[in-house]
Parts: sequence; C-alpha cells; structure tokens
Amino acid sequence: MRKGKPYLFAGLALILLGLTSSYTPVPTFTEAKTPSDSRRPIPEDQDFVKVLRLHVDPNTQYEDIDFGFAYTSFVFEIEHNTDFTNAVFVSEQSEVFKLDSIPKSDQPGDERRSPFVIPESVQYRFNFYSGDLAGQIKIYLFYAPPIKLTSNKHFKKRPKICDKPDVVKGAVWRKGLPEPVGNRTKHQVNHCVIHHAASSNTNHDYVNVVRNIYLLHTQTNGWDDIGYNFVIAQDGSIFEGREHQNIDSTDNIKGAHFCGKNSSTMGVCVLGNYQSIRPTNASILSLEHLLTWKCNKDGISATEQSNHPSGSSTKLHHIAGHQDGCATACPGDSLYRLLPAIRTTVDSLIKTCSSVSIAKNNTYLRNAFWHLNPLTKTVLITLPKSGNHKATMYNFSGQLVWESPLNIESKSFEIPDLRNGSYVLNIVSPDNQLYTTRILVY
Ligand SMILES: [Zn+2]
Repeated sequence: MRKGKPYLFAGLALILLGLTSSYTPVPTFTEAKTPSDSRRPIPEDQDFVKVLRLHVDPNTQYEDIDFGFAYTSFVFEIEHNTDFTNAVFVSEQSEVFKLDSIPKSDQPGDERRSPFVIPESVQYRFNFYSGDLAGQIKIYLFYAPPIKLTSNKHFKKRPKICDKPDVVKGAVWRKGLPEPVGNRTKHQVNHCVIHHAASSNTNHDYVNVVRNIYLLHTQTNGWDDIGYNFVIAQDGSIFEGREHQNIDSTDNIKGAHFCGKNSSTMGVCVLGNYQSIRPTNASILSLEHLLTWKCNKDGISATEQSNHPSGSSTKLHHIAGHQDGCATACPGDSLYRLLPAIRTTVDSLIKTCSSVSIAKNNTYLRNAFWHLNPLTKTVLITLPKSGNHKATMYNFSGQLVWESPLNIESKSFEIPDLRNGSYVLNIVSPDNQLYTTRILVY
C-alpha cells in the first residue's frame, strides 16, 4: 500500500477487512482506471442502499474507486479512535465536500458519522482524501433514482401567513422509493424542534436531497419513515415529512428526530448546514410561516417554555433547537442564534391571525372600562358585554405577561409581577370584538 500526500493522486489501495455476512462483499481495489465517462446503465432493480466496510490509511488519496454501485449520496460511519479531520470527498463534477464540518459532539449513539454527502448528480466513482481518518470505516451508499417535480404551482401563490403553507406531498417526492412502514402515533404538539440537515448548502436539487434523506432515515437508521414532520428547502419550498397515513395530519404525527424524546414535538428540518453559514431568507420566511400556522392553530405560545418530556422538570422552549434537548450541534450555530428572533416574529404574526375584528367603540374601553390601582397593581375591568371574554396583556417587547378568561361582568384582577412600564391589554368579547387599550403602570 502506498501512502500518498494530499492530492498526489498516487496509487490506490483499499484493503477489505472484517467483512461480516451482513455487509455486501467488496472487490479488492487495485488500480481502477476505467475512464470515468464510461457510464454503465443503472439496473432498474438496483438496491437503494449498499453497505461496505473498508480499511483506510491516513493522508491517502483514494481515486476513481468503482464500488459497482451508482450512488446519489453516502455517509461514513467511523470508530471512536479516529476522526474526519482534513478528510475530503470530491464528486465527479469536482464538488468538494469537507467531511469534518460537523463538530464532534454531533454524533448519534456510539458511532460517529460524517456529514450526509449528496452530490448534485448520480456518481459512479468515489474519490476521497482520508486526512486523519484511519482504520476500519463503514460506508453507506444510497441510490435514490432522481426525479423532477413536474409542477411548481405550489409556490406561485402563497397562502396567507396564518393558513397552512403549501407543501410538496410525500406521495409526490417519494415516488419510486420504498413506502414508509409502521403505524402512526398521533400526539398533541407543544414543542416545535428545529433542525438542519447538516447537508450541502449548494445542492439546489431539493426534491432529490429530500429523497436521499428519506433513504438515510429508513434504510440505515431503521426508522419507519423520514424522521421529520416537515423539511424546508433553501428556496423556501416545504416538503411534507412523516406520512400521516390518514391519521389526523402530518404535524400531529410523532416523528423520530429528538433523541428518543419525540413525544409532544414536531420536527422541522432546514436543508443545508448552518454551523457557520446563515440560512437563506426564503427558508426562514417559510419556517416562520409554518410555525405561525402551527402555533396559532394549536394555541402554542411561541415565546414561552414548558416542561419536556412531560413529567420532567426540564424546561424546553416551544420553538426549540435540537441541541436544547440532545447532545448535538444541530441546527448549527448560525440557525440556532436566529431562534429568539424567530420566536418573537412568530409571536407577533400569531397576533394578526385572530378572527376577531377591532371593536368600533374601542375608545370606550380606554375611557371607562378599566382602572389600575397603582398600589396593589390590580386592574379593575368592567366587561363590555356579558358572557365569556378573554383578556391578554403584552409588554412592549411583545411578550405575553398575563392572560385570563373573564366571565364576570365587573371584577378586579391581580396581575402578578406587573412591573412599571407600558402594556397593551386586549379583551375579546363573546361576539369576537377586540377591545384594546394601553395601560401605563407607574
Ligand atoms: Zn437535528
């Protein structure tokens, strides 16, 4: 075996070690010098995944390897005594993928994985430089037959911000792949967990990126279906994730994305790697749209936290990052840093969703319907009508500080921890009229 220097493209050698019966046998590679433009047809019944176990030497260039399997994506799985420092994969179209772009903490279970590499077109050969990578590695090659979405009509006319955004249905993007299995579990969602795919930022063939992620989750992770409830592409298009199989709808189906603590969560994955790169504006707008619809529909407060898992004392934001609950760098530092602003934006968007109309006699409330006792910090509210009302009070940062159903015509309400400052008090009457006023606490 020759040990080359970086990019010397010296001799090629892969020694096959430790094959077990569960792995596809690999030919021993010597000099695979077949010109890379001699494409063989891909058999119609080619498998969706091929698993190989290989031995690699450090600082070695492996060039033009023929695994006998055309592939659309791959992931390395390695032992703990080695790492991906300086390891690089180069596609046949000369796209460069650094394999050490995920922090070491971002690894599931006992195995450590490379980023999920999805080149822009089908690959027939494999070129990589091992860097510090050494010893036995496992490689999963995936083949998701590429498809094209026949219509982009989904994205021409955006639904209103409070309505469900358009999604590419699972049956559309999954065409030709194995169907999801298993029975769905419906649950009530309290927490929306945000992920990134730790995948390429340059691959614009989004439907095929989603197809490959689906294969990774179902063929390698052993899950029933793609783990997320929704996937958002860099152009803002939204893909329906986990199939609901006619049980309620996708957003309320228990997924597989939050280190075994999936109860009451909805997983949303943004395609790309946002460890150091900022997500696109289009993907953030779609994320905010999706969260506004979901939180408004289900009465989830976008800026608050609650216990998760239920019964534990651990607080989790209702809009949380994967790393808030699991040992991972997901959704990457750059996306994670945006979450406070996303919560605030979604919260303010939700306030526009109410079906209530502004009451015409609004000034009446301001003049006569409330009274603040500055000593006790209590508010005396005389309700504009009889019946069930709802009161909400926000500070000027847009945070909800108090909410209460009101159903007595005149009552004093003590509002806890009411500090000096300006507030907005909203009262919705039984006939959906919104009465709003500003309250100054001094
Ligand atoms: Zn994640």
